[in-house]
Amino acid sequence: MTTKISGIIVNKQDYQLVDAVVNIYTINGIIAIYCPGGVRKITSKNQAFLQLFNYCEFELFFAYSKNKMHRLKTGVILETFSNINSNYERLMVTNYLVKLYSELSEDTNIIFNELLVILQNINNDKNEVKKLFCFLTFKVLKLLGLQLRLNHCSICKSNNNIKTINWSAGGFVCRGCFKNEQQIFPISLLQGRIKFC
Ligand SMILES: [Zn+2]
Repeated sequence: MTTKISGIIVNKQDYQLVDAVVNIYTINGIIAIYCPGGVRKITSKNQAFLQLFNYCEFELFFAYSKNKMHRLKTGVILETFSNINSNYERLMVTNYLVKLYSELSEDTNIIFNELLVILQNINNDKNEVKKLFCFLTFKVLKLLGLQLRLNHCSICKSNNNIKTINWSAGGFVCRGCFKNEQQIFPISLLQGRIKFC
């Protein structure tokens, strides 16, 4: 009997001569799937959909014993993120964010959907990766309950002359409240996106 599970491929390892094991991120957390039948061969029909960060539906021989791995029967792609896989910087950012997300144990349904949106963002965004990375990290902080105050100076509440972020004050700081010894975070990295952070 088989079971269908949807998930994002977050890791892929070679197994034996031509097989592979993939880790997929699902709404129930990460699960490992053994993919037999020579999936690493270029002639394998399963090779195309087993690409990193593909969002797929997997049909599995489900392993009910903890000592056994689920075994892939077949699968279909629900969404691909080809711009991520073809760009080293995007790949690094995605790897980092996926690792961060898989550590979060809150409502996995929300986190799973949030991660899908993040992958879409990274895949489609035309901005520099550095800007995108900043924005997405701020989104992760918000998800963890660490939302920064980015609508006014977090010390004097002024909306004018915002200079940078004061991490210990928890948000923006204006020129008047800024102290020289503070590190300057370039707020231009958040340009046009502050209201979404
Ligand atoms: Zn101020």
